[in-house]
Amino acid sequence: ITKKQKKFIRNWYKNHATVQGNQFLTREDVSALATLLRIPVHTVVEWMNRKIFNQMSTATASGTNVHGPSLLTEGPRLPSDAGYSLRQANSHLAADVLDQVDKYVTACQRRRTPTDGRRKVNAGRYKCTFGCGYRTSRVYDWKRHEETHQPQNLWLCHICRQSGNHAPFLVNRNDKFLKHAKDVHGDMKPDEVLEISKVDFRADFNAKCHLCAEVFSSWDDKCQHVIYHYDTAAE
Ligand SMILES: [Zn+2]
Ligand SMILES: [Zn+2]
Ligand SMILES: [Zn+2]
Repeated sequence: ITKKQKKFIRNWYKNHATVQGNQFLTREDVSALATLLRIPVHTVVEWMNRKIFNQMSTATASGTNVHGPSLLTEGPRLPSDAGYSLRQANSHLAADVLDQVDKYVTACQRRRTPTDGRRKVNAGRYKCTFGCGYRTSRVYDWKRHEETHQPQNLWLCHICRQSGNHAPFLVNRNDKFLKHAKDVHGDMKPDEVLEISKVDFRADFNAKCHLCAEVFSSWDDKCQHVIYHYDTAAE
């Protein structure tokens, strides 16, 4: 990276963090920046991690937010991290489905602040590993919350899609999907709509435990492991 580019990245990030009030970056943000500079995404990520985020996470390490603002190291993995690219991993999907899925998952990955005001109850031993401040006393709710940041299962309404709807109903929770089926396609059996609407989605996930750095090969295994940390810490 040239000096000029480094300066550009610093200024761009400063602008992003202050003007937009958002310290966190998404894959989209970074790849847009990389395209603009005509340098590979992983080069930008590496440099930012080293020069911007490392310093920031050391500065905030004493706070309650484990992750600090270092989305690039602790948040959803960027393509360079482990070679995951949603579009590549899901290239078997139809183009329109892939577009919808990409948009949905990207939106989920946008960071939320601990004060986003959507939660009434915020207590319990199970804490969000994405650093949004959410906590709960129920394992089930915790896992479901984790998946709001990093969806693992998706349903894209087959009936909506077939009827030419440009924005067919898409969601990562089967209970919400069943409600859609009942409300909108009442003439069909909700379970059947659910079944034909399941997307063969290959999800990304943070393989590394944020507490001990152990690496897992499946999302469920990793969740089990994190729950164990929270349970033993509470005993
Ligand atoms: Zn969260
Ligand atoms: Zn539908
Ligand atoms: Zn661990």
